[in-house]
Amino acid sequence: MKADLIVRDGVVFTGTDDPKPGGVAVRNGRIVGVGDVKGFDSPRTETIDADGGLITPGFIDAHVHPLSGGLKLAHCSLYDATTAQEALELVGAYAKARQGAEWIWGGGWSMEWFPRGTPSAEALDQVTGDRPALLYNKDGHGAWVNTAALRRAHISATTGDPNDGRIERLDDGRPQGTLHEGAMDLVSELLPKFTRTDWEAALLAGQKYLFSCGITGWQDADVQPAQEEAYIALAGRGELKASVVGALWWERDQALEQIDALLGRRARFAPGYRPTSVKLMLDGIVENYTAALLEPYRDYEGNETENTGIDFIDGTLLKEIVRILDRLGFQCHFHTLGSRAVRHALDALDALPAPRRRSHHLAHLQVVDRADVHRFAEVGAIANCQALWACREPQMTDLTLPFLGPTSADNQYPFAGLARAGATLAMGSDWPVSTANVYEQIDVAVTRTHREYRERPPLDLVQSLTLTQALNGFTNGSAQVNRVEHEVGRIKVGMEADLAIADRNPFVGGSIADTKITHTIIGGTVVFSTS
Ligand SMILES: [Zn+2]
Repeated sequence: MKADLIVRDGVVFTGTDDPKPGGVAVRNGRIVGVGDVKGFDSPRTETIDADGGLITPGFIDAHVHPLSGGLKLAHCSLYDATTAQEALELVGAYAKARQGAEWIWGGGWSMEWFPRGTPSAEALDQVTGDRPALLYNKDGHGAWVNTAALRRAHISATTGDPNDGRIERLDDGRPQGTLHEGAMDLVSELLPKFTRTDWEAALLAGQKYLFSCGITGWQDADVQPAQEEAYIALAGRGELKASVVGALWWERDQALEQIDALLGRRARFAPGYRPTSVKLMLDGIVENYTAALLEPYRDYEGNETENTGIDFIDGTLLKEIVRILDRLGFQCHFHTLGSRAVRHALDALDALPAPRRRSHHLAHLQVVDRADVHRFAEVGAIANCQALWACREPQMTDLTLPFLGPTSADNQYPFAGLARAGATLAMGSDWPVSTANVYEQIDVAVTRTHREYRERPPLDLVQSLTLTQALNGFTNGSAQVNRVEHEVGRIKVGMEADLAIADRNPFVGGSIADTKITHTIIGGTVVFSTS
């Protein structure tokens, strides 16, 4: 048989510790040969020289926000800043360049640049003047606003905190300039609405960036109705080249009455876009005390407090929601940062009638109680890991560890424990919260250190994964999350030819994080190449 495309002279990852020298032959979009592929050559065959690099299945990002990422790339982007000063300079330059814009809008700052992780309105006022400004934190769980924005939203010393968020305050009760979680909505609801053209451009920008990371499919972790229109429009025009599952946002201020709307939205699938998942956000994040924990938080002096975080959805109601979604064939995609959120999700899955569907998944898994590690396999829940966070970078050492009790601190991101207990691991970046660079994430999964902080001790080294486990997570594991494991996620004859080619083979040593993608291929067609 002759091939349309041959990737040759590489090392093929086939799911084991022992990658196979050689290449991959492709015909009609499917893999027809693996390893020795010389016999598939013909004068009409296109060839790519992998030059000794690792050939993996195309990566599948099991938790990512391509539209908000794409949109933020096009607005006031602070992702390249490394300090508060640099961020302020970028905001100032953006404000100057867009004199006519009513709002200064964007994101990408890091909590670690600011004392207590909370940037002030006062600092922002210096570079924005009287125009309202709203800048999201890199992780999307907080917003930095200026005085003009606070005024426009009528937020003052007398404004109460919403149920699902907190207004950071000065000693006299006036708003300080940082809004946490649901409190962000007080300002963000005043922003001009993005148009359909904005969202379509954002999706194309997001897709292009993800292709450059070797990503050929993903689960969008929060599809809002306006964003859904962009997916459907691009899919209709053949411009959505990735394979996408959409997770529809569960509105926490509504109860079961929203299910009809979810069913209506699910019926609007398009080629390459299937909105079959529902995102249930059960808690917030540790850094602002909104992650729901089984053990109380510590205060700034290290004393135990009464605070155990917030249940965004009550545990009893959650069981009912999950039972109905499961019966209707929806997948549940849980945001579970803290140990109590993890327990509630597992309890809800445990209560489902047999036979259990085995693709509901829990994302983030920062603190998992030891008693719950083995339950993932029992209830058939996939562990959706954001590996980049499992290390001692400043957000961990300065804003997380001091505020966790000892049990929580010792049970963070227990990926190897979950794998040993039989759980299927999937991997997702949560971009634009953190980078979508897959090898950078895998490096942390394997070393439990970040390349910028190698001198620091690893975070609980017994929880490190092997390179093979991490690669399998980003390919076959995430394919299981999207229920496409019979089509993609392994390099095997008969599978779709979705491939990512790297410039080197990380199995032979060296820094995994320095491995770069040279080609991304979907169904035998090159969608990204550095050459
Ligand atoms: Zn997310």
